[in-house]
Amino acid sequence: MAAILLDIDGVFHVSGDPIAGGADAVRRLREAGHRLRFVTNNTTRARATLAEELRAMGIPLDDEELQTTPRAAAHTLAGQRVLAMTMHAIVGELEGVELVGEDAEAVLIGGADETPETNLVFSYMNLARAFHELEAGAQLYSLHKNRWWQTKHGPLLDAGAFVAGLEYAADTEAIVLGKPSRQYFEAALQALDAEAGMTWMVGDDIEADIGGAQGHGLKTILVRTGKFRPDEVEASRIRPDGIISSIAQLPEWLEEHL
Ligand SMILES: [Mg+2]
Repeated sequence: MAAILLDIDGVFHVSGDPIAGGADAVRRLREAGHRLRFVTNNTTRARATLAEELRAMGIPLDDEELQTTPRAAAHTLAGQRVLAMTMHAIVGELEGVELVGEDAEAVLIGGADETPETNLVFSYMNLARAFHELEAGAQLYSLHKNRWWQTKHGPLLDAGAFVAGLEYAADTEAIVLGKPSRQYFEAALQALDAEAGMTWMVGDDIEADIGGAQGHGLKTILVRTGKFRPDEVEASRIRPDGIISSIAQLPEWLEEHL
């Protein structure tokens, strides 16, 4: 039996539209005795909301099986004064973090999103405030540094562009809290009490999912859904251990390859 980390966005759904066979695949993986953890770079929803949405798609899971970046941020930044530029929906997840407008010890950048709030989050004024805090010595953190993400209307600009912009302007380097960071994968392995070499990461992102997991010694499977692009995979030096058409194929693939 294996430990399996499952990405969500682009693996089980795109913009809320379920990818066929996802719910059935999870059921079969559980029946086969595999230990599962859902690992997402999502920055737009609280964990309970995300879990509820997955259950509404027929995917059986407990809230506790879902690992999110806002909770990773709360863990890392507890007790610190933080200027947070995040989506409103995840502010409640930042338990123990003191949210401030100035004199921050840390600046936290969340994700981009297609809702109008994003324009407020990444306005010139807000980015200039973040820059000011970084110049005064605050450490830059980001929930993730994804370049873009896949929606049902096509690719959309993600938060990585804003993180890179602040890094450039303030001549600093952000600490990334979600995938592909080491701590994020380490936390997932700890939760499953699993060894990296016996654990599989399944995702649609060649960099954050596959590259990140390989860097931590995990085995990897790329799905041809979500943000998967054949030319990007071909051009990349990152080689997943397996490539499957979709999550629906995973139980069978593992039966053959484990
Ligand atoms: Mg994904």
